[in-house]
Amino acid sequence: ASTSIPQTMKGVIIEKTGGTDVLQYRTDLPVPQPKDGEVLVKNDFIGINYIDTYFRSGLYPAPSFPYILGREASGTIIATGGGSSSNLKEGERIAWMATGAYAEYSAVPTQHAARIPSGVSSEVAAASLLQGLTALTLIREAHRVEAGDWVLVHAAAGGVGLWLCQLLKAVGARTVGTASSPEKMELARRNGAEVLVDYSKEDVIAKVKEVTGGKGVVAVFDGVGKSTFDASMECLARKGSMVSFGNASGAVPPVTIARLSAKNAKLLRPTLFNYLSTPEEFEHYTQELFRFITYDKLDVRIHDVYPLQDVARAHQDLEGRRTTGKLLLKP
Ligand code: NDP
Repeated sequence: ASTSIPQTMKGVIIEKTGGTDVLQYRTDLPVPQPKDGEVLVKNDFIGINYIDTYFRSGLYPAPSFPYILGREASGTIIATGGGSSSNLKEGERIAWMATGAYAEYSAVPTQHAARIPSGVSSEVAAASLLQGLTALTLIREAHRVEAGDWVLVHAAAGGVGLWLCQLLKAVGARTVGTASSPEKMELARRNGAEVLVDYSKEDVIAKVKEVTGGKGVVAVFDGVGKSTFDASMECLARKGSMVSFGNASGAVPPVTIARLSAKNAKLLRPTLFNYLSTPEEFEHYTQELFRFITYDKLDVRIHDVYPLQDVARAHQDLEGRRTTGKLLLKP
């Protein structure tokens, strides 16, 4: 192994689930050893995602403790684990999605790493992969959105929300977006949403009916979960798709399938990794995402870059609905 790789590193672990007080910033964590098919990455920027708060709180179970949170980052390959058919080499800049991201170094399966194109900054790359690919696969796979379609996007000024607004605009769809403040509504509008509703005050169903001439939307992309599910179902057009992909307000309670027959609706609960399980799928969608960023000049909005030791404040801001776009950590 190269002598420039240290034995210990900075990182954030949890040893139990709970509030932001369970986040422990440490300077003595072991640097991981890349296994076959993995590379060791020195992270430049770490992407925060809402799912990190679910693993912290216990809504999603951590496989074991101590557990390093975080599912994506950008960085430079500093060692390869061997046994890999990948052509990624030491010194290359990559963006990756796996586990153990809240750290200076991560061991990453090459299957979930993408070389960063030269025109894309490490900051933008760390801000793009997980939320951008979620938005892209939702509109391609969960419900293939066509030009002219009306769709509803909740939390339209959030991380995934702003990607959805921009990608839907790029494919010619028409978006009704929801958000909880005038500033957030304005931001979602600038990113491509056509009609905005303040769902903390206004009637979303009435607005959707009004703009769609009573028909409803062909798809709802709902990452808010518990507090919006019922209204989302009401907003659907006949044969529409209810795409429930997250739980920012809490998990959606069990649903009776008989409820779908009122509109012959489809109900989906997708997760990104199941759209990207093969190397071909990962390659296809990351290339398409980088093309959108480069040629459609998408605006990858970064809310803030927090020092890694301020991770608790970052989680509080995200859960407190005080952010728009992407939160990054700097190790
Ligand atoms: P966001 O940046 O969208 O943050 C969440 C937003 O949800 C807030 O900004 C807030 O916007 C809105 N919100 C509504 N109700 C609440 C509430 N009670 N508490 C907190 N926030 C609330 O986060 P992400 O972009 O990281 O993720 C968005 C959603 O997408 C999450 O549910 C996440 O789990 C999901 N997701 C799912 C994936 C999958 O594979 N299925 C992959 C990636 C993300 P406002 O103030 O405007 O209401």
